[in-house]
Amino acid sequence: MMKFTVKSRGDDFSNTLQQRVMSYLLDFGLIHDEKDPEMVITIGGDGTLLQAFHDYSDRLEDTAFVGIHTGHLGFYADWVPDEVEKLVIHIAKTPYQIVEYPLLEVVIRHIDQKEPERLLALNECTIKSMEGSLVSSVEIKGDTFEIFRGDGLCISTPSGSTAYNKALGGAILHPSLASIQVAEMASINNRVYRTVGSPLVLPQHHTCLLKPLNEREVQVTIDHYTLEHRRVKSIQCRVAEEKVRFARFRPFPFWKRVKESFIGGS
Ligand code: NAP
Repeated sequence: MMKFTVKSRGDDFSNTLQQRVMSYLLDFGLIHDEKDPEMVITIGGDGTLLQAFHDYSDRLEDTAFVGIHTGHLGFYADWVPDEVEKLVIHIAKTPYQIVEYPLLEVVIRHIDQKEPERLLALNECTIKSMEGSLVSSVEIKGDTFEIFRGDGLCISTPSGSTAYNKALGGAILHPSLASIQVAEMASINNRVYRTVGSPLVLPQHHTCLLKPLNEREVQVTIDHYTLEHRRVKSIQCRVAEEKVRFARFRPFPFWKRVKESFIGGS
């Protein structure tokens, strides 16, 4: 029997729905296993799914995610509360399809630390200076591409391209494109300082290496987490070998999802 867990955003409505989904699935004979679930059902919004992804990022190969959205945008969540009974029957009774989306691998190297830090992002990694402008060299596939000076840089996955990246004028990418996108945050462009100014989409085999050039503290975010790093030597970004797996019980084409989330209408 399949092992599952249900994660809630924590508001009263999501918590009540969480209890309902749990008891339905237990009635069907499925096993609740918070530690090693094969399926993680999130109830809330994308933030809830991002949290669940990080909770289980050490066992992505054995975990499938499915989202129910309760009020928020819910770009990652296919189901609404009225459909809970239907979803539970699907989970308990029908074989489901798995869709896999690419992730971003971030390797942070420190000046005074031997071991690099390796992290995975479902949406993006951002790099900003804690004070003043970020000054960073941007290397692509081993060659210096530009010296960036500005608010920061955002490196996103294709499924994260509809999140922060979109607000920065980045393109929306279909998640079948195993790629990462580098988008600028308010770069300084004048006679003295110059960057390309356009978002860049890199394929799977191209690495983007950022080396902060000023002494300032660097702030790195990975999805909804904020990390502060004082003495960063480099931040290396590329498409990860790992993928995130979503359980699909009915077709929900990516562009339909984009339309419903950002344009609306029928
Ligand atoms: P939040 O600031 O509470 O919410 C961020 C918003 O982005 C929520 O409406 C969320 O949807 C939505 N969202 C998350 N992932 C998405 C995706 N892949 N596609 C489309 N929309 C998405 O922050 P949070 O809930 O902790 O989420 C962290 C994310 O916020 C970061 O990964 C970053 O992408 C995003 N963010 C965006 C901006 C910006 O657009 N200017 C600035 C900072 C951070 P739900 O309402 O369903 O949760």
